[in-house]
This record gives sequence, structure tokens and C-alpha cells, in this order.
Amino acid sequence: MKNVVIIGGGIIGNFIAYYLSGRDINITVIDDQPSMLPASYGNCGLITPSHIMPLNRWSYIFQGLKWLGNKQAPLRIKPQPDTAFLSWFIAFTLYSNAFSRNKAANKRHRLLTGSWELYKHFFEDEQVNCNWKSEGVLYACSSEKGFKSLAEEAAFLDKFRLSNEVLSKNELLQLESSLTDRVIGGAIFSIDGWLNPSELIDNLQKVNARKGISYLQEYVLDFNTSERKIEHLETDAGKMDVCQVVIANGAKSPLLAKKLGIHLPIIPGKGYNITYHKKLENQPQRPVYMVEKKVVATPWESGFRLGSTMEFSGYDLKLDELRLSALKEASATYLKTDLKNEKYTPWAGWRPMTSNELPIIKTSKKYHNLIFATGHGMLGLSMAPMTGYIVNEMLQ
Ligand SMILES: Cc1cc2nc3c(=O)[nH]c(=O)nc-3n(C[C@H](O)[C@H](O)[C@H](O)COP(=O)(O)OP(=O)(O)OC[C@H]3O[C@@H](n4cnc5c(N)ncnc54)[C@H](O)[C@@H]3O)c2cc1C
Repeated sequence: MKNVVIIGGGIIGNFIAYYLSGRDINITVIDDQPSMLPASYGNCGLITPSHIMPLNRWSYIFQGLKWLGNKQAPLRIKPQPDTAFLSWFIAFTLYSNAFSRNKAANKRHRLLTGSWELYKHFFEDEQVNCNWKSEGVLYACSSEKGFKSLAEEAAFLDKFRLSNEVLSKNELLQLESSLTDRVIGGAIFSIDGWLNPSELIDNLQKVNARKGISYLQEYVLDFNTSERKIEHLETDAGKMDVCQVVIANGAKSPLLAKKLGIHLPIIPGKGYNITYHKKLENQPQRPVYMVEKKVVATPWESGFRLGSTMEFSGYDLKLDELRLSALKEASATYLKTDLKNEKYTPWAGWRPMTSNELPIIKTSKKYHNLIFATGHGMLGLSMAPMTGYIVNEMLQ
């Protein structure tokens, strides 16, 4: 029987396995399961069909350059004398024009709305419990400038029928009593939802295991190839025969692709979070995006997470205290949630960032039995089901 090996057991690898299951093939997910859990566990848990606009903007680039020396800024670019980083940065800049942005927005729209529909079916079919709620995400502003740009974005999204509503200060405070008096207005993106990402992935793995998918805790080191075909994987446990390979190992996928002589335009975009493992006093009813600080607060029945920052500093997972405290400081500006004396777990992980903010879901031109499904950047959780669905179609 044909064996399909998926490298990477994050949310992308697991949803690919889910949509492949039921076919007459052997499916194996290989993941080394590092002690610092990957992005699929540590993300903010938002499912956001509204996030169709890519980051490619000159204003974003200038902002990053302005914040070069600011260690608490939500965006940090550490200059690196590395050709992969430099070529990525140049490509990001070249995609920062209206034509490329709108093209990417249309593609992201299809992936995001497709995933939203698939999530609804998934939760109906599998009865997975992970604090899934489709009650919208709140945006809160503390400055006129932030409020103006949010209102512009909301008007743009109207064209795509992505339902949202701009809210005055009073309307916002009526909707969410945990906001402080320092907010001046905001919006609700009622099309968005949220869940607990660790609970989702743990449950998805159980569902997959019931459907006959195998999981191997191994690290893929290299490949043995013949002409246009991958014959074996070399892992830290030995050699493995393969018929079909899917590279879905997130931010590390360019490192594996390099072993095959293939360049993937992906670099790691480091993010941080702090997680409280119990429901806090005055925590918000729904997620709150703090516009100026670019911090997200996500509430669950079992806890509360503050997450943010985009740091381009290579493959480094060091926990920077200044960045972690910036999350709490942002929260104190926008939320009444009492964080004092509460214990939390700090975390850092990498987003797989492509230069045009579109994931790479395609068959390799060099090896006919290789598919890439990676580079989902800031939206891997939101795009995962549709990615799995597409990979299943590609293998028909
Ligand atoms: C702070 C933060 C907040 C975020 N918030 C959101 C959000 O609210 N909504 C949203 O949609 N997205 C969010 N994201 C983005 C999202 O988390 C990622 O896009 C997504 O998790 C990527 O999933 P993945 O499966 O591709 O990669 P990963 O989650 O990184 O999984 C890759 C897996 O591959 C394994 N692996 C790597 N190399 C090898 C190898 N050689 N051999 C074997 N295994 C290997 C790793 O151990 C890992 O388990 C956020 C990210 C961050 C950092």
C-alpha cells in the first residue's frame, strides 16, 4: 500500500493527515516534539477570516526600521548578514505595492473563508472540545491615529463582505466591561472566532489516531533521492522508505528543503506569549486585539493568554524578559484584567513567514513525490483545514 509521510506534526501536518485519512494509504506524521512547543500550540488561538490583508506595506517596513533600537517594540528586525534573510527582506519590499497586496488578499480570502467553513464541519463531525467560539474578535484603540486606521481597514473589508462594525468608546465599553477608560473606540469583527490551540491539536491527534494515522517521534535529518524522486528519509532513528513526502514542518521547512537543493522564501518570525492557567478576574468575554501595541488577549474557560511581537532574529528561541513584560504593560493600558501576583508560563515560537504572506502549497518541480505545505505566517491556525483539504486534492 502507498505510504505518505508528513514531516511536521503541527496544525498544518495534522490537518493534512485528517483530510487524507479514509483513503487506502498508510499515513505517518513524523515530528521530533521539541520541549519548547511549536507555534501550533503557543499561538493566540484566533481564527480570523477577516485577516485577508498581507503585511507587505512600506509603512510596516519604515516602522520596523524606526523601532530598530527599541527592545519593547512589537516589531523587531535584527540586521543579519545572512543571504536568506537579505533576499527575503528584499522580496518582502518588492511585494509591498497595491497590485501584489490585492492579489495576495484575494488568495488569502479564499483560504481563510474555506477554512472557516471546514472548521464548522470539523467541529460538527468530530465533537472536539477546545473552547471553540464564533462570537467575534474585538479591536480596541487607545489613540485617534490607531482608531482612524482601524476604521479604514474596516471599510476596506466591507468590500469583501467580511462583517465588522466600528464602535464608539461607549459602544465598546458596553460590549466589553473589562476594557479600561483609556480606550477611545474600536471595532468588532464578528466573522472571527477563537479556540484553545493546544486543546485543538491534542484532540485532532486523537481523532487522527482513531482514523489509523501513525505518529513517529523522530527528527528528519536528510533525504536519499534518485532522479526526480525521494526514495528514503534519514531520521535520527534510521532510514525510512517513502512513496510520497509532504514537508509541513513550519519555520524549519527551508532548512529541510535546502537539503534537497530547493530554496523556500521563508524565515522565522518569532512571537511571544504568556499564559495564565486559570480564569482571571475581569478577563474579557472575547479576544481583544490592542491595536497600537499589536497584542492579543485571548480568554478561555481554563485560562488567559497575552501574545504578540514579531521579531526577525533568526532561529533563536531565547525568552527576552523585556518583551514578555511589554505584553503585561500593554494589557494594563487596555484591560482591567488583574494580572498582579498571578503565575504564568512564558513561551516563544516561530511563525513560518513568507515574503509575500502567502503559504506555499505546491508540488515540487524537482521531485515528483514531494509536496510543500508551509509558510502560513501569522495565520497557520486560521488556514490549516483548507491547506489539508488542498493537499488531499493534490494527491488524487
Ligand atoms: C505568538 C504567535 C501568535 C499566533 N497567533 C495566531 C493566531 O491567533 N491565529 C492563527 O491563525 N495563527 C497564529 N499564529 C501562527 C500559527 O501559529 C502558525 O502559522 C502555525 O502554527 C504554523 O503551523 P505549522 O504546522 O506550519 O508549524 P509548527 O507549529 O511550527 O509545527 C511544525 C512541526 O514540525 C516539527 N519539525 C520541525 N523540523 C522537523 C524535522 N526536521 N523533523 C521532524 N519534525 C520537525 C516541529 O517540531 C513542529 O512540531 C501565531 C504564531 C505566533 C508565534
